[in-house]
Amino acid sequence: MLCQCCGSGFSAGRRDAKYCSARCRQAARRQRLRSDREAKQNTMTLESRVLLDRLAAVLPATAARVESFVIVNGADCTEAAVKLVMSAYAELQAVKF
Ligand SMILES: [Zn+2]
Repeated sequence: MLCQCCGSGFSAGRRDAKYCSARCRQAARRQRLRSDREAKQNTMTLESRVLLDRLAAVLPATAARVESFVIVNGADCTEAAVKLVMSAYAELQAVKF
């Protein structure tokens, strides 16, 4: 059998084994998670992009944080995340210190 991660031959204990070792199984899992994350990030809508850019113009550090939040949680929450931050910002603007 050939390991689906490193490609080396191995004798499987189980018929459905795909990887030669726990190490390769882990590496493959990590790779899968990474491409899932990238796929999610790539599906960010144009509307969300525009919102995020608008936020970045005012609060660049916060926009960067929202962006990394989106990478973990998926592009479909970008709009909600940005709107939340923007309303919080508007509220703070209204506060007199
Ligand atoms: Zn392997």
